[in-house]
Amino acid sequence: MPLEQKRQAERKQNPRRRIRNFDEVTSVFTPTQAVHEAERCLGCKKPLCIHGCPVEVNVPEFIELIRQWNFDRAADVLRLTNTLPAICGRVCPQETQCERLCTLGQKGEPVAIGKLERFAAGYGSRTSATAPPQGKKVAIVGSGPAGLTAAGELAKMGYEITLYEALHKPGGVLTYGIPEFRLPQRVVDAEVEYVRQLGVDIQLNTLVGKTITIDELFVLGFEAVFIAVGAGLPQSLKVPGESLNGVYYANEYLARVNLMRAFMFPQYDTPIKRGRKVAIIGGGNVAIDAARTALRLGAANVYVVYRRGKDEMPARREEIENAEEEGVAFQLYTSPIEFVGKKGQLRGMRCIRMRLYEPDESGRSRPEAIAGSDFSISCDVAVVAIGNRPNPLLRQATSSLAATAEGTLIADEETGSTPKKGVFAGGDIVTGAATVISAMGAGKRAARAIHQFLKESN
Ligand code: FAD
Ligand code: SF4
Repeated sequence: MPLEQKRQAERKQNPRRRIRNFDEVTSVFTPTQAVHEAERCLGCKKPLCIHGCPVEVNVPEFIELIRQWNFDRAADVLRLTNTLPAICGRVCPQETQCERLCTLGQKGEPVAIGKLERFAAGYGSRTSATAPPQGKKVAIVGSGPAGLTAAGELAKMGYEITLYEALHKPGGVLTYGIPEFRLPQRVVDAEVEYVRQLGVDIQLNTLVGKTITIDELFVLGFEAVFIAVGAGLPQSLKVPGESLNGVYYANEYLARVNLMRAFMFPQYDTPIKRGRKVAIIGGGNVAIDAARTALRLGAANVYVVYRRGKDEMPARREEIENAEEEGVAFQLYTSPIEFVGKKGQLRGMRCIRMRLYEPDESGRSRPEAIAGSDFSISCDVAVVAIGNRPNPLLRQATSSLAATAEGTLIADEETGSTPKKGVFAGGDIVTGAATVISAMGAGKRAARAIHQFLKESN
């Protein structure tokens, strides 16, 4: 009986061993495990799991195909609605999406939908039929999950797509932010290759807004533009000493390790300070990734310093547990008030204890400093991971685009259309830092809206 069968668990590398390497922590299900897990699915007549998925993957159908050992067909079903399943299967917060709504979850443990997606994504031919050429060109700016999804969807509809990326490698946060031990670069490369095979021309090292403007793209014959430039500008703590040597913003720290392969020394000679005592400030996925990266770079002690409690941390539970297993320590209800240094080098932090008060407008408990509770933490590296905002460069270089007070671009939630004709936007640039799947959902909706716009402008 499916209800009695226990949820299958992926095998994990031993924590003591895994903090010495950057290999993926969890192994993909074996075929037998995947089939056993698929057998737990009830094949509900009204499958709520689909409604929990922002790109509406047909969950029961792909799971049923796994149950029948038809892994290639399961992968094809996934790819019908999800351009990047191998990525989603690894980093999506399924516990708050499809698995949260799974009927089995209400009576026990939900089907491990994410882990089955990760398994099936390794199969299939990775070929998709494309519609006959439409004879129209669309430009996409930014190659993160929003840009890649929109590019893939529009290419399948027969549009000629050029995707412009500022960095020397495509993938956005998937490439420069999320570490190798959670999302191997080979997995991202394979998904980018799939998008290329659909006919998408990826132009790297092109900072739109500087190298070329959006108005110039229209002059070059593009009939619509999708802006998917993410939210890559780090937020500062605004405390004294933030410019000391040894204080990093998480984006730079993680980009040095992931994009610039600092962990592959001496093959890659990317400079990075490998601290002995490392403090990470923040409580989201970015902070947990930075903490686990610091351990793997050889730190003896890593503290996550967070102003609220563990239950309030926005990071995925699974990743917090992984970090704890690996030896990351937590300094909760704590906030830095100063970085302290000697001869320009970071030596430690002055911190203050926090207390939680009534929830604020965002619905989250408001932390306030407890007077006279300050104390010191010694550290030689600190990583600030308290959030990112959109970079204003592209907006400032483009007429008729508008932004909110937080710097996010104003665009229609459903279609991504902006006040500038033919220009659409989606992903973190519109929502602020969010999730891979929400960015993909925005890319998909924008692709449909661009198709409609181009049909109407015929
Ligand atoms: P991005 O991924 O930021 O991509 C934007 C791209 O645009 C970048 O490649 C950038 O170089 C490029 N660009 C910027 N400006 C220009 C320009 N002017 N011209 C050309 N190109 C430009 N989400 C999850 O769901 N699960 C997780 O576990 C998770 N972990 C995370 C860990 C880290 C360390 C970080 C930083 C984020 C994490 N997220 C996670 C969030 C998720 O990665 C983002 O929400 C998602 O990548 C946003 O996608 P996007 O396409 O909008 O932008
Ligand atoms: Fe299967 Fe759960 Fe979806 Fe029902 S809700 S079809 S049990 S995955």
